Amino acid sequence: MSNFLEEYALILSSCERPSRYIGDEFLSANKDFDMAKVRVAFVFPDKYEIGISNFGHKILYHIVNSTSDFLADRAYAPDKDFLELLKIYSKPLYGLETKKPLKSFDFLGFALQYEMSYTTILTILEYSNVPIFSKDRTNDDPIIFSGGPCAYNPAPISDFIDLFVIGDGEDVIVEILNKYNEIQGAPRTDILKELSNIKGVFCPLYPKKTTKRTFIPDKKSHPTKSPISHFTSIHDRATVEIRRGCARLCRFCQSAHTNLPVRERKMNDIISLTCDYVKNTGYDEYSLLSLSSNDHTNIEEIISKLNEHFLGSGINVSLPSQRADKFSLKLAQLMQQEKKSTITIAPEAGSQRMRDIINKNLTQEQILNAVLSCVRSGWDKIKFYFIIGLPFETDEDVLAIADLIKTINYNCKKEGLRIPSITCSISVFVPKPHTPFGWHGQNSIEEIERKKQLLLSRKPEIKNAKLNFHSQKVSQLEAFFTRAGSYAGDLIYLLYKNGSYLDSWEENINFELYYSLAESLNIDIQKEACTTYNPANEMPWDVIDTGLNKDWLINEYNLAKNAKTTVPCELKCSNCGVCSNLKTHKVFDEKANL
Ligand code: SF4
Repeated sequence: MSNFLEEYALILSSCERPSRYIGDEFLSANKDFDMAKVRVAFVFPDKYEIGISNFGHKILYHIVNSTSDFLADRAYAPDKDFLELLKIYSKPLYGLETKKPLKSFDFLGFALQYEMSYTTILTILEYSNVPIFSKDRTNDDPIIFSGGPCAYNPAPISDFIDLFVIGDGEDVIVEILNKYNEIQGAPRTDILKELSNIKGVFCPLYPKKTTKRTFIPDKKSHPTKSPISHFTSIHDRATVEIRRGCARLCRFCQSAHTNLPVRERKMNDIISLTCDYVKNTGYDEYSLLSLSSNDHTNIEEIISKLNEHFLGSGINVSLPSQRADKFSLKLAQLMQQEKKSTITIAPEAGSQRMRDIINKNLTQEQILNAVLSCVRSGWDKIKFYFIIGLPFETDEDVLAIADLIKTINYNCKKEGLRIPSITCSISVFVPKPHTPFGWHGQNSIEEIERKKQLLLSRKPEIKNAKLNFHSQKVSQLEAFFTRAGSYAGDLIYLLYKNGSYLDSWEENINFELYYSLAESLNIDIQKEACTTYNPANEMPWDVIDTGLNKDWLINEYNLAKNAKTTVPCELKCSNCGVCSNLKTHKVFDEKANL
């Protein structure tokens, strides 16, 4: 540490927020680098305060550090000023805990959360003195692996990543490190070949016809502590995963489709994990994480028990994502034990027709009931998530968002309730691989702008609502990269060479650069993003087998065309293929009788 402080003193004293770069946070593992048989640095290609909150990172960090032989360190994308200082003083990026150069690790594991972080990964490799292209790496370089949502189409970054982990990473990470430990010292290509044989691993150098997703049948391994940021992070709270997978099968949602089947954690395990996590960390908030938290069989009982446990302590619960049809008055009341925060509901679409097209299985009545339950219980702030530009959308569907808010206001007034303040976060549909809408083209930027203006024209009628639109330009880039083939690697490389960095922050994106460099490579970003493909065509992501049958996905797409819904799989199996192909089944907690 003292050497490190001497070496990096000028950099740390000149940069903004040095606390991002010094490590030694409360509850960090701080294992001995020299004693470990295999060392991995988990690298989050975004700023410290984003990465330190990432739940996937926390799980993998916990699992590796729970072993006696292996060490996990962490690294995040430095802000631009720090990067500049590294260049000036010719210093490499390092692991936050061990302070060892990233190049000296056996593995660097990059989280692939969003497409706009691709160029950041390349920059981190450069500042770690690791060759950008896999083909140029030698035995002196770490093995670069990646996992996360974007790994479901590895093609655009296959030139830069040695291995992709497809699916749940919990078991496979230990298998990779064990295998590496057995064969380390062998030629790099032999090591990669061996590792490519592990289930769930896709190696671009040794591609299989398809790589099947791995999944864990139960979720035994869960952290009850994690490093706490020196200053702040986007989620300063104890996070406990209560359920993986979502049986609702909204047709645009990649997470739902690539995390099937549903696996619920048992109520008592959730309670003890939450109590331990809060006790170990001192957080005053806990989050019960799932794609749809109030779908858990025993959600009311869990919150009720935790309320009893934390009574009078000022500790609050947050549910990151809730279903309006499951939002009961009892749950609303349970959640306001200590402090009322904003209630978040995701209708995704304003009209019933559109909600049927996307398979939301949610009626207007259910949305209204959920909102009224909240308002009656004293909440006056509601946050809604909507999407525009969805397949088969009409102008009436867009305007129905305003109609829905008007109806809420009318119903509140009728009951003599206070009109809530409503914030609508309105994103743009991005077609995602391995979903029924993955083949469908996105609306052009101009068309999205027209729809946005159409909705804004109704703003005077819904004065209590704030309409926040996600950038259509960013959405177009996301749609392009998420479905692109390996040709997009050339563009990612050129963008990186031309300074694209931390482009997950919109203010950093040089849109002109994206489009001009794409043109120089004969790539038409808008055309690619807006193309509706024939499902019979081969797509770049066909090398990944999520367990979903292609026929089922196509059938879902055809049902959407006719605004026909599919029953959520917790009520009736629609034979998507996952359970038989992955030899598994859905797991629900037993209903508690309290
Ligand atoms: S096979 Fe049936 S039960 Fe299993 S995930 Fe698919 S729809 Fe659900």
